[in-house]
Parts: sequence; structure tokens; C-alpha cells
Amino acid sequence: MAQNMLTRVPVREQDPKVRATNFDEVCLGYNSEEAVEEAQRCLHCRNAKCIAGCPVNINIPEFIGEVKKGDFEAAYQIISLSSALPAICGRVCPQETQCEGKCIRGIKGDSVSIGKLERFVADWARENGIKPKAAEVKNGHKIAVIGSGPSGLTCAGDLAKMGYDVTIFEALHKAGGVLVYGIPEFRLPKDEVVQKEVENVKSLGVKIDTNVIIGKSITIDELLTEEGYEAVFIGSGAGLPMFMGIPGEQAKGVFSANEFLTRNNLMKAFREDYDTPISCGKIVCVVGGGNVAMDAARTALRLGAEVHVVYRRSEAELPARAEEVHHAKEEGIIFDLLTNPKEILVDENDNVTGMRIIRMELGEPDASGRRRPVEIPGSEFEIKCDTVIMSLGTSPNPLISSTTYGLDVNRRKCIVADEETGATSKEGVYAGGDAVTGAATVILAMGAGKAAAKGIDEYIKNRK
Ligand SMILES: Cc1cc2nc3c(=O)[nH]c(=O)nc-3n(C[C@H](O)[C@H](O)[C@H](O)COP(=O)(O)OP(=O)(O)OC[C@H]3O[C@@H](n4cnc5c(N)ncnc54)[C@H](O)[C@@H]3O)c2cc1C
Repeated sequence: MAQNMLTRVPVREQDPKVRATNFDEVCLGYNSEEAVEEAQRCLHCRNAKCIAGCPVNINIPEFIGEVKKGDFEAAYQIISLSSALPAICGRVCPQETQCEGKCIRGIKGDSVSIGKLERFVADWARENGIKPKAAEVKNGHKIAVIGSGPSGLTCAGDLAKMGYDVTIFEALHKAGGVLVYGIPEFRLPKDEVVQKEVENVKSLGVKIDTNVIIGKSITIDELLTEEGYEAVFIGSGAGLPMFMGIPGEQAKGVFSANEFLTRNNLMKAFREDYDTPISCGKIVCVVGGGNVAMDAARTALRLGAEVHVVYRRSEAELPARAEEVHHAKEEGIIFDLLTNPKEILVDENDNVTGMRIIRMELGEPDASGRRRPVEIPGSEFEIKCDTVIMSLGTSPNPLISSTTYGLDVNRRKCIVADEETGATSKEGVYAGGDAVTGAATVILAMGAGKAAAKGIDEYIKNRK
């Protein structure tokens, strides 16, 4: 019966009115009965397109086959051959454009809920103390990984499974990259989920050295020539926020989304037992329409504000995932579409009092294929607000490229690296994730970390 169902087994979620006032996880996931029922919908296609749709090529039909049988441990071991972070990917991957987007079931009805099944299996494994399998023999080669985000964790985990002695150097006091400082608790619990998957990577033998800023505490050249590392992977992300360059942007009460989210997620400003200051006023305007803007808006809402998303195109062009926009609307975020700020208004003490905004219309498509927003002359108006959060994108921090001899970057300050192997212009130095592509996704960063682990392994073997 379940196999013929055109629609997926629905997933339980917190009620929108309740969750708008707390930071607990929105999606509650499947229980074992629901997971087995949803797994029955998989057709186990001979030419399974879902596998190619996954940037780390998880054998999806095989793990779902084990869920069907109720052997969740076997399902976990299949997933962990390809992914070090399944509980994270099951929660935050854009499955609708990847594995699920390729699912044959989606032609007539709903695709199989692959992401929710992955999440279920990973949560079950964690709750039952199941760990990924570590390498039995060490090969004695030392590799350094810079950054403990998804690209660094994946590269480190894969190298450790091959027997390498791997140390991750992380600038912050906690490992996880954007997974700990960017994505909010209500989408991705930090202690229960992220730190547990970081622990799994450590259980493979990976060491994590926090509070070390490569380029300041020590350079890549020193790691290679003085500290005995034979190769380095750079997974330092793209954490430098962009601003609009409009008047008033330096005022008190204007934040980058990165800073606002870091204070809240990494430094727990939302919790009463932490004294991290955060200035979230009564009316908050978030400028931008991507996933980061949705996270900042939904965080400000939970801190008690009325929240407006100010976006210069229409709803059809919103770059955020449809699910995030849907959740934001359900919770009461107001979307001021086809509007763009011209100035942030401030009082005599330099506090934000509002924004001068102009209305926009859509013109011809630009290079990205999206219709270009064009200002409507004479349509300016003012809105009141006391906090502005700029969420306009990020770029890689130039600290590493400017302190590493012979490392090429492009004009967007992204490190130039080979797509297949992660090799950069400097011998023994590999790179991947947002540091190479600019801001992208968790799973693409993981795919790049995997490719670089293979590239480093080849490099070390050929050097011997
Ligand atoms: C708010 C937000 C929400 C997002 N939501 C999603 C989502 O729902 N789904 C999705 O797929 N993607 C999402 N993304 C994007 C995704 O998180 C990133 O693409 C991904 O984390 C990139 O991984 P990375 O390993 O390249 O870098 P990062 O995760 O950025 O990790 C880089 C790490 O390197 C460290 N580092 C930087 N410089 C140095 C240095 N000099 N020395 C030592 N350490 C250093 C940083 O502190 C950081 O820990 C989101 C991003 C943000 C900001």
C-alpha cells in the first residue's frame, strides 16, 4: 500500500505560533514507523538518479532498502561511507534541487523524502551510540586542515579513514564553521546534533585545535616547512560580510547578518544564562532574500521583534529555499518585496530610526538569468525601524591568501583550486568549499572536502 502512495508521509513540526516564541527545533522528524513507511515508497531504480544528484554520492536506494527492513544500523553504515555529517545534511541540504529533485517518484507525485530519512537514520545512530568505522592502521603522514566547517570536517574525516594523522586548525573557540555560528538552533541544534557529528569525526582520530588563526597565529608556509605537515587543506569559508555602501550604514543598530547570527548562535545571546549582548529592537528590517536573511529574520522574530524582509525583487526570485520562506511566512515575518533601501535614518545619537526606501520593478533578465530590479523614479518612502540587518552575501576573508606565498586567488578573492582534486597553485596546498566557490551550500563544501582528500592522498603517494 505504502509503495503506491503518491504523497510522502508527512513530517511533524512545531506549531508556527508556538515556535515563533522559542528556539527549539521546528521540524520534529520521522519516528521509526513513519520512516519505514516512507522508505516503502522508494522504487530502487536500476539507474538511481538520486545518487548522482547527491554531491557526495550516498548510495541512497541501498540505505533506504535497509530502513525498509528496519536495520537502521546497516543504513547508517552505508551513509557514513560517503558522508561524515548525515544528521546535519538531513536537516539543511537543499534536497529538492539535489537527490529528491532527481527522484523518479517526483514525476507523478511527491519524491521520496530522502533528506528526512537520512536525518532519521543519523539521529537513530546517535541515540543508539553507533559511530562510523575508523582506520585500523595509521600511515604516519601529517596533514593540516584549516577550518572546521563542513569542507574541513569532511576532508579531515576522509583522510583519517585512509590512515592519515590529521589536525584541524580552527579560528573560533568551537568547531563546526557556519553550522555552529550561522545556522540557527531552531533549524540545526548545536549540542545535540552538530557537536555530536564533530565528535564522530574526532572518533576517527582527527585532532581539532581551536583558537588558532592561520595567517596570524601561524602561517601555511610555517606549517609546511617548520611543523612537519606534508600537505594542507584550506576550508576557511567565506565569512566576510558585504554592505550596501548607503548613508547611515555605520549607525548603532546596523548589523551584518553574520554578526547578528554569531552573537545569537555561537555566543547564545538568546539564552538567559549567557551574558552576550545583542541589540535587537522592536522593529527589525532584514535586507536581502537568501537563506541567511531568512535565518536572521526568524531569529529576530524569536527575540520578540516585528520583522520585515526588504528585498528588491519579487517573491519568485527570492533565493532562499521555498521551505524557509514558507516557514518564515507561517511564523509572521512580513515581506516588503520590490523595495530597496536608499538610506538608513538615524537620530542625533546615531541610533537607527528608520529607512528611506525606493520601490522597484523588474526589467530584463541579468547575467544570472533573473529579471533585473529597476528603481521606480519618485517612489521613495520612509519606514520606521530600530535595527537593520544586512544580509547581502559574503566573500572569503583575504587573510590566508595574503599570508601564503604563491597562492592564487581570483578577482572575487576566492582561492583558485582544481575542481577534481582541490589542488591550488601552491604545491601541497589544497582548498575547497566556500573559500573556493564563494558562499554556497553545506553539501557542496563536503563534496569539495572529499575530492581534496583524494587529491591529497594521491599527492602523498606520488611523493614517496
Ligand atoms: C546563516 C547561514 C545559513 C545557511 N544555511 C544553509 C542551509 O540551510 N543549507 C546549506 O546547504 N547551506 C547553508 N548555508 C551555507 C553553508 O553553511 C556554507 O556553504 C558551508 O558552511 C561552507 O562550508 P565551509 O567548510 O566551506 O566553510 P565554513 O562553514 O564557513 O567554515 C569555515 C571555518 O574556517 C574557519 N576559519 C576561517 N578563517 C580561518 C583562519 N584563518 N584560520 C583558522 N580557521 C579559519 C572559520 O572560523 C570557520 O569555522 C548557510 C550559510 C549561512 C551563513
